[in-house]
Amino acid sequence: MPHRKIKKQGKNWRKFWKLGVDGWNTQFFDVNKDGELVANEGNHVYNLNDLAEKYGTPLQITFPFIIEDLLKDLIGYFQAYMKIYGYKGKFFYHYPMKVNQNKEFVLPIISEGGNLEVTSANELWIVKKLWEDEKFNSKIRVLCNGPKTDQYLDLIEELRTKGMNIVPIIESTMEMERISKYKGDIGVRVNLEIKTDTHWDKKFDLFGLSEKDVLDLSKIKNLKIMHYHAGSQMKSQKSILDAIKYAFSIYVKLQKIHPSLDTLDIGGGFGIPYERKNFYTAKSVSSKIVKMLKTLSDKAGVKHPNLAIEWGRYIAAPAQLVIYKVISEKSIPKANASSWYVLDGSFMNDLKDTWAIHQKWHVIPVNNMHNSLKAVWLAGSTCDSDDKYTDGGNYILMPRLHEDKNQFVAVMDTGAYQEGLASHHCLLSAPMKIIVQDSTVKIIRKHETPDTIGKLFGWNGDHK
Ligand SMILES: *Cc1c(COP(=O)(O)O)cnc(C)c1O
Repeated sequence: MPHRKIKKQGKNWRKFWKLGVDGWNTQFFDVNKDGELVANEGNHVYNLNDLAEKYGTPLQITFPFIIEDLLKDLIGYFQAYMKIYGYKGKFFYHYPMKVNQNKEFVLPIISEGGNLEVTSANELWIVKKLWEDEKFNSKIRVLCNGPKTDQYLDLIEELRTKGMNIVPIIESTMEMERISKYKGDIGVRVNLEIKTDTHWDKKFDLFGLSEKDVLDLSKIKNLKIMHYHAGSQMKSQKSILDAIKYAFSIYVKLQKIHPSLDTLDIGGGFGIPYERKNFYTAKSVSSKIVKMLKTLSDKAGVKHPNLAIEWGRYIAAPAQLVIYKVISEKSIPKANASSWYVLDGSFMNDLKDTWAIHQKWHVIPVNNMHNSLKAVWLAGSTCDSDDKYTDGGNYILMPRLHEDKNQFVAVMDTGAYQEGLASHHCLLSAPMKIIVQDSTVKIIRKHETPDTIGKLFGWNGDHK
């Protein structure tokens, strides 16, 4: 069935493969005259098929210039709209490190003027190392979320005494006691009683204090930030705006009790158009946020709050993709797809959300992009029947296989969350990792050998 459609659209391959579209984060990608996927950094072109041939697959490629581009634009939008609408508060971007803690993600964000948000003592440990190496200046601010163990609180205290601008966020009434003695700025997290259209909109949320508990807090003279985080990958801009509006109503009440409060931190949640369908954009949403907060504050007669955002997925996901090679084909009788293409890596190991939350991806060929196509399902190489990608029981279009030519497959937008969740089911090797930036390729992790993986499981060579 899909084949007829292809013939009609077949001329404009860039459009057909949904590349070069600004709102979809594919403005960095294109098809060359040989039908190969390329990435553009300014005027430099990276041929992804050549990289896959040269370094072998599975191959994970990170593009720090995409992080820099997206963040620069995002900060620019908010600052511009604040000027246009006469908004008096300041704007702060905080990168939530749990989205991707790799150096090649964190460092470009710092260099573009981003601040940080951490969720554990171990993430904060990395921040401490960066601080000690003088990788950032003291203007940066670090927000600390997540359950506060003694080790975590001690580290926060240590970094504050060393001069870091570090703000613990109170997540529960129990944390209140110890954090209330803290000498620096403090934040509090509110659990909004509001529905947002995300996978994570749970009826009972562990994180944060209820509105009542927040308003019952006795006066904290250094309370600076009211924070909430309402879920990830929000499907509509309405969800984002409704949450802000609701949170602002609490902010106004809280500000009366704690006059030091001057910042509203709206957490993460901005989505990615993984499916390349119509989607809201950062440019339009940032304008609406600033305008709405201005109107609401003026109406309530409060100072325009400083605005902090922690949109992690938005910045990190588009900056990475994974390339696999098709290693065999197997026909499927009676299904939406006619064949399985078996890949030399694993969805279950490398792209865990495929399995965990039925994540949909933009999956496209890396080469032979002009060839005749067929509808397939993709399978990973573990022996697990859950290791597959079918686009939700639909199909994926891929070129027909040629005996004398490799077929590479790219999964786009994989930069958020997948690496922290990755595993070694069936002891498959993780993808090799490279970074491309400024016309050069840097190897971060080689293909794992049987020996390196064995060591992860205690087989130290002598197998005793
Ligand atoms: C996970 C998380 C984020 C990032 O969410 P995204 O959906 O990736 O933007 C931000 N803030 C907090 C507190 C989080 O837990």
